Amino acid sequence: MSNGAPAAVLDHVRRSPDLPLPAYITDHAGLATWAAAVRAALPSQVELLYAAKANPDPDVLRCLAPHVDGFEVASGGELSHAAAAVPTAPLSFGGPGKSEAELALAADRGVHRLHVESERELHLLTGLAAAAGRPIDVLLRVNAPLHVPGAALAMGGGPTPFGLDPSRLDAAARLVAASPWLRLRGLHLHLASGLDAAGCALVAQQAVRWALDWARRTDNRLEELNLGGGMAVDYADPAARFDWPAYGQTLTDLVRRHPGLRLKVEPGRSLTAYAGCYVTTVLDVKRSYGRAFAVLAGGTHHLRTPAARGHDQPCTVVPIETWPADLPRPAVAGEPVTLVGQLCTPRDVLARDVPLPALRAGDLVVFTMAGAYSWNISHTAFLMHPAPAFVHLQRTPRPSGAGLR
Ligand SMILES: *Cc1c(COP(=O)(O)O)cnc(C)c1O
Repeated sequence: MSNGAPAAVLDHVRRSPDLPLPAYITDHAGLATWAAAVRAALPSQVELLYAAKANPDPDVLRCLAPHVDGFEVASGGELSHAAAAVPTAPLSFGGPGKSEAELALAADRGVHRLHVESERELHLLTGLAAAAGRPIDVLLRVNAPLHVPGAALAMGGGPTPFGLDPSRLDAAARLVAASPWLRLRGLHLHLASGLDAAGCALVAQQAVRWALDWARRTDNRLEELNLGGGMAVDYADPAARFDWPAYGQTLTDLVRRHPGLRLKVEPGRSLTAYAGCYVTTVLDVKRSYGRAFAVLAGGTHHLRTPAARGHDQPCTVVPIETWPADLPRPAVAGEPVTLVGQLCTPRDVLARDVPLPALRAGDLVVFTMAGAYSWNISHTAFLMHPAPAFVHLQRTPRPSGAGLR
């Protein structure tokens, strides 16, 4: 089975004996190609936003900018950050716990869309938008009662802190209608993550039906429906990517049937996971009660993804022949090896029982599918190890004269 390592990253690792390690290496050409393929699989009437929380690296945002219709940000911090990194891109501001200061920031600088999660937010926004003297276009995020089959993380269709309960949706729409500064553009229904294309298609069809029915019943205009993100990434099979053409076909059928409705999707993980690798070196190899362990430089304080999700991070080994002649070289061959980091906790495991032909201290391990929810979700201060290096292969040039919008 493929380990999903981008050829550009492996080439770079093999040709760079002085590569600072551990390092995150981003394959920008691969990222741009994949984002273009995702965009091409969607009908032109469907907007593609990137959920910046998956990987907000400014170079990643700039690489994606030509291929997406905008970015979804989930905090005031991400809002300011994205506005600086991709100053001309439309920003949609979501997230379940917005402070008054964050809402004021959105009102003052202007956002393309504000995804409202509660009536409290609407009460605050009414005053803030009036004070800023600028209308705000909102989508109401609703925890719609839809069936979400086989999701890894369910965020709707049952009790959750996300979005408005369906029973409060009409009251929220009336609050929007009562304010001259707020404009209701439609609804937002991010209900789950980890769905394959068939699951996403089923959710999209139900969501469109439910949203249009709500609009008809309550006499609200529904121009837009944001279907959220959550497209599955299978870490056990790097070659099996989310079937964007199949999902795109479902969305094509939906926009044909409902020509006045603008659909939006906002994937994070499924756009950037494949373009990032975490590369490090084997410090030590040892056996413990009959099992082989390799202790790597770095660990889950750099790449928390496998610990957070409970998976084995896919990887491949780049053998290194250089080793001091006077130093015995710890090694293991012909048996599964568990790859761990430098932290003093048994949870610092990147991959368990990996069937490698051989592994020696000094060899390099390239962890693949590390481009989403990786560095930025890690507990980086634990044990005070240094941060990894960040390497961007074929990075998109930074536009000159970029400033805040
Ligand atoms: C996290 C999130 C996304 C992106 O989810 P992925 O699983 O990374 O695709 C999109 N929309 C909302 C509202 C989110 O919270």
